[in-house]
Amino acid sequence: NPVENKPLVEKPQASEASYEPGAEKPVKAAMVALVRNEDLYGLRKAMRELEDRWNHKYNYPYIFLNDKPFTSKFKKGVQDLTKAPVQFGTLEPESWGYPEWIDQNKAKHERETATYIKGRSESYRFMCRFQSGFVYKHPLLKDLDYYWRIEPDVHYYCDIDYDPFLFMKKNNLKYGWNIAPSEYEPTVRTLWNTTQEFMLRHQDLIPEHNMIDWVRDSHGKYTRCHFWSNFEIVDLSFYRSKEYEAYFNFLDKAGGFFYERWGDAPVHSIAVSMFLPKSQVHYFDDIGYYHPAMSHCPKGSKESGKCVCDPKEGWANEFTCAKRWRQIS
Ligand code: GDP
Ligand code: MN
Repeated sequence: NPVENKPLVEKPQASEASYEPGAEKPVKAAMVALVRNEDLYGLRKAMRELEDRWNHKYNYPYIFLNDKPFTSKFKKGVQDLTKAPVQFGTLEPESWGYPEWIDQNKAKHERETATYIKGRSESYRFMCRFQSGFVYKHPLLKDLDYYWRIEPDVHYYCDIDYDPFLFMKKNNLKYGWNIAPSEYEPTVRTLWNTTQEFMLRHQDLIPEHNMIDWVRDSHGKYTRCHFWSNFEIVDLSFYRSKEYEAYFNFLDKAGGFFYERWGDAPVHSIAVSMFLPKSQVHYFDDIGYYHPAMSHCPKGSKESGKCVCDPKEGWANEFTCAKRWRQIS
């Protein structure tokens, strides 16, 4: 495989890449978040850190999306934190809610009996379906080639002295991740069976070289490994490909976003594993990151002075799925 084992182009350094707010960027990219008005303060904290650690030099735009209109308080609250352009959008109606083929009584029954995390929430399921199959189709993202997903209440522990978008582009990388846990089984009871059926029916869409062994163990079973999608940097042509579209539609028809609680993280991750070679997927292990419940602190960062985390507490690098990532070819 010609793309395998190619040395990566070096990380473009700050001195050669630092852009004025109004200037054209070398990559059509933005930070994107789906958020609620009540997420304002959590988002402000996250944005402040990202600006201080990185974006004050690069001034990539932000795009915020919401199923309800943003309040003027929210808009001002985030705009005040950056010199970069900020755009606000509401969702297209068909991207939020139930598609017509879903049996809403069955969905309700699952919500009422679920004992797993966020199992009783309807809006959480709308959110996961939106992030799986619609965010990259939103009109405000039409001209974007890459996005970096951000969320309220996350931390960026380290200075980021290069442009990750440009790094992705120069290296022809499609998907960048940072933390990889294992998914709760009750939320994805039939996701793997459904995926196997998809692979059987669409063999023409599955390339010979992929990283399926990250999500499939030696007995053919699902490892439940997934990239935590609250941080992801993605070449959107991947989500807009006919392969990804076919997979999302297949899952959407199967109904597991509602009859179970399929998360966008396992969905993105299985798609990455089916359709991409490992060489087009990048572990941003230099980006120190925290999302409530888990964190990744780069090894050696305590000494480098550019991170504020204690490497002993940022243990995500030791997760079984992170190890599995290092082992597969
Ligand atoms: P978790 O990370 O899986 O615990 O899920 P979160 O609650 O953090 O939700 C993921 C992202 O979607 C966050 O950026 C939330 O602000 C956003 N989000 C979740 N539910 C809704 C919703 O009902 N409406 C909107 N507009 N955003 C939501
Ligand atoms: Mn979150």
